[in-house]
Amino acid sequence: MPKPKVAFYWCSSCGGCEEAIIDLNEDILKVVELVDIVFWPCAMDFKYENVRKMKDREITVAFINGAIRTDEQEEMAHLLRKKSQLVVSFGACSHLGGIPGLGNFWDRETIFQSSYGKNCPSVDNPNYTVPQKINKVPEGELTLPGFHDTVKSLDQVIDVDYYIPGCAPAPYLTMKAINTILSGDLPEKGTVLAPVKSLCDTCSRNETKPEKLSIEKINRISLVESDPEKCFLAEGIICIGPVTRSGCSEEGDGRCIAVNMPCRGCYGPPPEVQDMGAKMISALASIMGLEGEEDMSEEKVNKLMEQVVDPAGTFYRFSLPVSLLRRKRMH
Ligand code: SF4
Ligand code: SF4
Repeated sequence: MPKPKVAFYWCSSCGGCEEAIIDLNEDILKVVELVDIVFWPCAMDFKYENVRKMKDREITVAFINGAIRTDEQEEMAHLLRKKSQLVVSFGACSHLGGIPGLGNFWDRETIFQSSYGKNCPSVDNPNYTVPQKINKVPEGELTLPGFHDTVKSLDQVIDVDYYIPGCAPAPYLTMKAINTILSGDLPEKGTVLAPVKSLCDTCSRNETKPEKLSIEKINRISLVESDPEKCFLAEGIICIGPVTRSGCSEEGDGRCIAVNMPCRGCYGPPPEVQDMGAKMISALASIMGLEGEEDMSEEKVNKLMEQVVDPAGTFYRFSLPVSLLRRKRMH
């Protein structure tokens, strides 16, 4: 019997999700025994043409990581959708827009000015030469993929069957997901293949949270010596654990928490949370207060909230493109 055919593709991301496949270590040999890898341009010399020539739905499952930011990524996402029975959105950028999604606080022109123009102090480019989709040279035409104004998650571009969350996905979850898919015993379409509890629910520091939590001052992890056993929120350090799905480590504590860093939300929201940033702001607002003051003036609330350095990057670090805001209005 022919083996199931598997494809891996990389859109707008750092490459960590490709590393996450390698992090399967010796388990990758088991995967290779069970499947035929028919497309993985990051690891081997596959050509797009090979995929174009395949029959529709010939690939059993395509794992696509990275957000969609360019014409090429959009085209490949559509092509892989057409050629695959199942598409798995792999990793935080594909699932939520991820770190590239923070680009939605600007537009293409502002980003180009920062990279190639007057806003980039290390670039000398008086004619403001920027990448063009088509460049005519004596030998013919050179082309580059168009760069979009707005970063999108994979499911904002194509139909997605399953999601494996995380920056990057934990190897044990990836292996579990591969086994589930290969078993043919498929969960409901749209399932995020990770636990449903929030990170706080599985975090060993949760029990150090006082019954009535109240924060008077926001502390930054880089500027204080935090207690490695205490809940970050109880120390006034913002941790996105209350609105983040658990599963980044098999042990229950988040991977970041285990090395004494607060969670930043890369696993995305648990099922009951629609917009993680808004939910976290609301959670924080409910625990911020000055001792003895039940009703604070707007001025005092604003003063407390002003202590949050980079609120957009803190509350929407991984999820801006799928948030209710999606992007900043530029005009
Ligand atoms: S807020 Fe952070 S440190 Fe506190 S219990 Fe939740 S995940 Fe753990
Ligand atoms: S602790 Fe939070 S930010 Fe860190 S890996 Fe886990 S889900 Fe991601």
